[in-house]
Amino acid sequence: MRILCQAAQSVRNERGNHATRKPAKASVNLFEKDGAGYLVVHTEKSKGKGEKFALKANLNRCLAKFVHEGKLTIEFKDPSVNIMISKADPGQLKKLLSAIKTSFEGKTLVGVGVLTSATNKPVKIGKTTKINILSRDDYKTKLSKKSGIPAELEEFRCHGIGMKQIDMRLFKLRHLSVLDMTRNNLTTLNPKLFQLRLKALILSDNKLDERAFSKLKSSPIAESLQKLDLSVNKLHSLPSLCHFLKLSSLIIDKNIITRLPTRLPSTLTSLSARENKICFTEFPRFHKFINLNLSDNPFSMLHKFKVDTSKIPVSRTLAQVAAAKILKHKLQINPRKVPPTLNNLLESIRFCPCGEPLSDRKRMFLSGYDVRKYTSDKDTVAPMANNFVIPQIEFCCSNECFVKFSSTLQFEEDLPEPNSEDGMVVD
Ligand SMILES: [Zn+2]
Repeated sequence: MRILCQAAQSVRNERGNHATRKPAKASVNLFEKDGAGYLVVHTEKSKGKGEKFALKANLNRCLAKFVHEGKLTIEFKDPSVNIMISKADPGQLKKLLSAIKTSFEGKTLVGVGVLTSATNKPVKIGKTTKINILSRDDYKTKLSKKSGIPAELEEFRCHGIGMKQIDMRLFKLRHLSVLDMTRNNLTTLNPKLFQLRLKALILSDNKLDERAFSKLKSSPIAESLQKLDLSVNKLHSLPSLCHFLKLSSLIIDKNIITRLPTRLPSTLTSLSARENKICFTEFPRFHKFINLNLSDNPFSMLHKFKVDTSKIPVSRTLAQVAAAKILKHKLQINPRKVPPTLNNLLESIRFCPCGEPLSDRKRMFLSGYDVRKYTSDKDTVAPMANNFVIPQIEFCCSNECFVKFSSTLQFEEDLPEPNSEDGMVVD
């Protein structure tokens, strides 16, 4: 067992403790010779066999209060030094602690499964939690076939080197929480990506379209992801994100998206959808943002373009009624356990301005959505030049709501500016 961690050292004398080494990447292991146990510490600077500390009857004490946080301080008698271990795996550290006690009592550790035979400097010292790759050469040196990808990696960033796929080795990492593949050539995504429990996924400036996300639905990533950046890609539509439990930031600038989802994750507070092809919105009116940036979209929806749905006979399906009831009563539904029809309805359901989920789409009107009313950031950008009000399609749950909201929320179209040339007298 080799423990990858940080280790600091201090010397004790009459005047107290004196730090002799700041916390540095280290590898700690146990070794036995002629029946006596030793603790061996290697740092990147240590030469050859590292520093060796005898364990038999050679400890003042071990400060083990924070072992569960990966911290342990070992006070040796001779030499009179303290070794402070931090950032270690708590499970491994508990094993180390119990092995140290055994060795202190003069008992052998053979057969316990914690000893390392060689005391030579290990290839790997300390933990590599972050890797940044900015060139092809970087890739070869930092992720060579020989050393592989460190199992403890938490952040992987690979920018601008024309990658067509995400390195498959990353899908095996249990601790990876940030994956950033900005400015590459990704056109597809391996569905294994969605099995990772990432907090941030940054795929900006690639060649992805919506087909890349077809397997995203109800995958483990939906339980952990907080930030998703899909800006500068080729998306026409967005994958359904309403099942995401923690998503707070979504960036989809510079795509060719025409419609935004009608149901958003309740945790989503920041949405940036600049430079798309959005003509109208369909946001639930109860959803409040901190930041909402919709600038440089056409927002060309006008009253005359809307279809009159009031004349279309309505027949509600059982699934439509069920979907509305589920949302009305805020029932917790596992998307993996309900039929796909119901799932699709739940994802695309609309809400009346009064907040009721709708089981039909009969009473529709074109409303004005003033972004300032739904954002708390004072620097909210106007979506259309200086105009904060954008067209939004609205459906109502009842005739009462329709009468009430279609009069108070009606979209007021700007009259076309008189063209000065029209009035000119032409010879
Ligand atoms: Zn209503």
